Amino acid sequence: MSFLKKTDSKLFEILQKESRREQTTLELIASENFTSYSVLEMAGGVMTNKYAEGYPGKRYYGGCEAVDEAENIARDRAKILFSAEYANVQPHSGSQANMAALMTFVDVGDTVMGLDLAHGGHLTHGSPVNFSGKLYNFVSYHVHPKTGRVDFDEVLSLARKHKPKLIICGGSAYPRFIEFEQFREVADEVGAFLMADIAHPSGLVATGLHPSPMPFCDIITTTTHKTLRGPRGGMILMGKDRENPWGKVAPKSGRVKNISELIDSTVMPGIQGGPLMHIIAAKAVAFGEALTSEFRDYTEHVVENAKTMAEEFLKKDYALVSGGTDTHVMLIDLTNKGITGKKAENALERAGITVNKNMVPFDQKSPFITSGIRIGTPAITTRGMGKEEMKLIANLIDQVILDPENETLTASIKEHVHQICKSFSLYEELDS
Ligand SMILES: *Cc1c(COP(=O)(O)O)cnc(C)c1O
Repeated sequence: MSFLKKTDSKLFEILQKESRREQTTLELIASENFTSYSVLEMAGGVMTNKYAEGYPGKRYYGGCEAVDEAENIARDRAKILFSAEYANVQPHSGSQANMAALMTFVDVGDTVMGLDLAHGGHLTHGSPVNFSGKLYNFVSYHVHPKTGRVDFDEVLSLARKHKPKLIICGGSAYPRFIEFEQFREVADEVGAFLMADIAHPSGLVATGLHPSPMPFCDIITTTTHKTLRGPRGGMILMGKDRENPWGKVAPKSGRVKNISELIDSTVMPGIQGGPLMHIIAAKAVAFGEALTSEFRDYTEHVVENAKTMAEEFLKKDYALVSGGTDTHVMLIDLTNKGITGKKAENALERAGITVNKNMVPFDQKSPFITSGIRIGTPAITTRGMGKEEMKLIANLIDQVILDPENETLTASIKEHVHQICKSFSLYEELDS
């Protein structure tokens, strides 16, 4: 039964429209996924009503008994999932997790290194239009033009030259394992802190399909809604808590012994007010799911599917940055196919296939046009699709890209996409 349908039919119709879109199209955006009904239930539940500034047991509001239990479970499960000694589950998003991490470890004006946005980095890794690029002196490193992988000769020489206080590794469109150990060597050589942003592969890290940053990185941030398949949100982790190396003090509580306390106070009151308790509780639900063997199997299929699709594209002479993938994501340079990322994204959308245009390393085109597209398998794998579907989908994408203006073709592919989607139902019970 829908309350919304009765009270606000306009918004009900819009919700239905999005639900239909998710059900009837192929979702290949690498940062998206479909949460379980249980996660949806918690995220859409009454905890949205609760103010709970502070942390479990130390809140500024009464009535926090239930939400305290939820947040404690979220933290405990996160620690088990990632073998971490510390977890803060309050950041509203991945960007806010990064903001809190940066504000704890470096001061305004300090030098920080991050992967260039066009080479797979993220806005919060020093883009001039983002707080990170405005507040800190960011120096970007790049991938090597031949390998498409991080160019460690460049990373080392930039680090020696600029003496960064912190180096960020990880990104949004990096199809290979993040090289935590190699980054650690560079960081040690120049005395920098090392931060890992595992927003994308965190689901694979949780199940051991991607190396873990915990032994190598001083601070780790992630989103909870990408491969981890939870509600939209962020999180901060540390493999080991350490003594506060700066003698910094936290507002209110005064002298602080450990870095964990500094991070907690940077998140709240530093950059956030009331936590989203419905989302934190939904994170707890998602982490519980991620601890199961079903989730491990799921992540195995995500990677297997990405590799299968990558092989299909290679067979059809597509240029994959770095020549393939180790993870859930691939980045395709469409230059040899004579089509821009923007045009490919639009044509594919008309065919019911959702991808995003993406800059490729050394891209000559603007971020609004781009030379490439990014494709990921987390969402379609959640629907239960496997190797056969991957080959089929690669074939459909190829047809659209070779003939993007053929509207008869896009219409018939859209129909085909509908048929595929029907066999892999999604959120069926929300319609009943
Ligand atoms: C997605 C992403 C983020 C930010 O996540 P939001 O929740 O969208 O703010 C941060 N870093 C990386 C590498 C990402 O891919």
